[in-house]
Amino acid sequence: MRRLAVPLEPLLPLFHRLNREHFDGTLAPDGRPLVALRWSDGRLTRTAGLYRRGWRADGSDLCEIVLSRPLLEPLPREATLSTLCHEMIHAWVDRVLEEREVHGPRFRGRMEAINRSQPGFKVELRHRYPLPREAARWIARCPRCAHEAAYQRRRRGLACRRCCERFHGGRWDPSCLLVFEPRSAA
Ligand SMILES: [Zn+2]
Ligand SMILES: [Zn+2]
Repeated sequence: MRRLAVPLEPLLPLFHRLNREHFDGTLAPDGRPLVALRWSDGRLTRTAGLYRRGWRADGSDLCEIVLSRPLLEPLPREATLSTLCHEMIHAWVDRVLEEREVHGPRFRGRMEAINRSQPGFKVELRHRYPLPREAARWIARCPRCAHEAAYQRRRRGLACRRCCERFHGGRWDPSCLLVFEPRSAA
């Protein structure tokens, strides 16, 4: 069962466009990006994107935006734009304003200004997208309601929220424990 894969969009042209339209070009002085960009491999599934800055083991600078291939690949382009723009705001706060904040007032101010200025995509504080079934190693099934969800890792002690709410007043109950099966066998 293979999905038709659309080739991943190169990130650099998107970065330059967003940088021009929403950051006054400050993220690429003289046309050179202050931050490296790349698509993740298949393992980045806890978040759609991340910005990080630090040092590599060899002492060189690390400053990069990584976007999750497994989460964003199956979604419409707006999800990539919104995620990239979110991470670019982090880079802008860190590298241009040189402020230490995560989703603080400067981040939110810029996010709201970007959202007001165009209708094509919306930047949000959280960008968690569901893991597509094709990218997951495990399928967790509720033995009571048969609801299924995709997981990258096997997790112990997870119970079906819906059934715990319906049958146990919202409290965790072992009768609703999810059963994990490797996806290949599902
Ligand atoms: Zn963030
Ligand atoms: Zn259930």
